[in-house]
Amino acid sequence: MRPFRYQHAPDIGSAVSALAEAPEAAYLAGGTNLVDLMKLEVAVPDLLVDVRELTSDRIEAHPDFVRIGAAVTNSALAADPVIRRRFPMLSQAVLSGASGQLRNLATTGGNLLQRTRCPYFQDLNTPCNKREPGTGCSAREGFQRDHAILGASEACIATHPSDMAVALAALDAVVNTEGPRGPRAIPLVDLHRLPGDEPERDTVLEHGELITSVDVPQLDFATNSRYRKARDRASFAFALVSVAAAVDTADGVVRDVRLALGGVAHKPWRATDAEAALRGAEASVEEFRRAADAELAGARPLPGNEFKIPLARNMIVGVLSELSGVPR
Ligand SMILES: Cc1cc2nc3c(=O)[nH]c(=O)nc-3n(C[C@H](O)[C@H](O)[C@H](O)COP(=O)(O)OP(=O)(O)OC[C@H]3O[C@@H](n4cnc5c(N)ncnc54)[C@H](O)[C@@H]3O)c2cc1C
Ligand code: SF4
Repeated sequence: MRPFRYQHAPDIGSAVSALAEAPEAAYLAGGTNLVDLMKLEVAVPDLLVDVRELTSDRIEAHPDFVRIGAAVTNSALAADPVIRRRFPMLSQAVLSGASGQLRNLATTGGNLLQRTRCPYFQDLNTPCNKREPGTGCSAREGFQRDHAILGASEACIATHPSDMAVALAALDAVVNTEGPRGPRAIPLVDLHRLPGDEPERDTVLEHGELITSVDVPQLDFATNSRYRKARDRASFAFALVSVAAAVDTADGVVRDVRLALGGVAHKPWRATDAEAALRGAEASVEEFRRAADAELAGARPLPGNEFKIPLARNMIVGVLSELSGVPR
C-alpha cells in the first residue's frame, strides 16, 4: 500500500474544499471497498478525508419520502422497521450483499460508489481500460461470466456490483450531494454511467462531490415488492443477475409496476421497456415473459455470459408471478 495522509474534516464544506484542492484525494467511509483497492494499489489516493461522522447516520421517515443519511450502515438500513415495511425489496437487497461484519461497516454512500468486481480491474498485471484508460479490455477475450449483457461498450463490459442500488433504481430514489459547485439532487438511475469510451468514469459525480443522503419517494404498492439475486454461492457473492420489482395488480390486470435488474450492466438497469409492456397488461406468465423479452431484446451477450439472458427472463417471470399471485 502506498503512503497517504488521513484527515478528519470539521464539516461538509471543509471536506469538499479539501478534495477540491487535492486531485488525488478520496473520501473514506466504511473503507470496505476503498481500502481493499488501496492494498492492491488499484486506488492510490494521497489523502483520505474521513466522512463517516460528517453525513447523517439517521433514517428519517416522512409521509412522502424516507431520507437515508449517507453514513447509515448497510446493517442499520436493512433492519430499519420503516424500510422493511414500506420498501421490503430494499431491505432484502441489502441483506443479500456481503456479510454481516461487512454490512456493519459499509455505508449507504460507499455502497453506491463501490467499484466493479471485474477481476482484471483488480489485477495490475492485465490491461484494463477502466483502471488505465487506453490499455484495452482483458475481459473481452477472457473471463466474462460476471460481465454485462446490456449497455456495454467496446471499451468495457464490466457490471456494477451494488445490490442496494438496484432496489433504489426501481424505487425512483434520488441522491443528494454537496460538491464544489453546490448541492445537487441526482435521480439514482442517472448517478451511474454506461461505460461508452470513458469506462474510467463510473458515475456523473464530479471529483469532491459528496453524497449526503438518499431520498426514497413513497410508493404505496412497494409494500408488495421483492429482491431476488442469483449468484454462484448462497452468500458472500455478487449477483450474476438480480431482479428488484414492485407490482400493483387489480382484477387480474397490472395497474403499475417498477422493475430493475442488477448484474447485467455497468449501472443498475431500470427495465423501462418491460414496465411499459406490463402496464395495463393481463397479469399472466405469458405477459410477464413478453415483457422480459422486450427488455432483453437489446442484450448483446458474449460467449461466457449468454446464460444471463434466460436466467434474467426466468427471474423476471418468477418474481412478477409471485408478487401478482399468478401460479407458474
Ligand atoms: C467480500 C465482499 C463481498 C461483498 N459482497 C457484496 C454484495 O454481494 N453486494 C453488494 O452490494 N456489495 C458487496 N460488497 C461491497 C460492500 O457492500 C461495499 O464494500 C460497501 O458497501 C462500501 O461501503 P463503504 O462505506 O465501506 O465504502 P468505502 O470503501 O469507504 O468507499 C467506497 C467508495 O465510495 C466513496 N465514498 C464513500 N462514501 C462517500 C460519500 N458519502 N460521498 C462520496 N463518495 C463516497 C469512497 O471514496 C470510495 O471511492 C462486498 C464487499 C466485500 C469486501
Ligand atoms: S470489463 Fe471493464 S473493468 Fe473489466 S477489464 Fe474490461 S475495461 Fe477493465
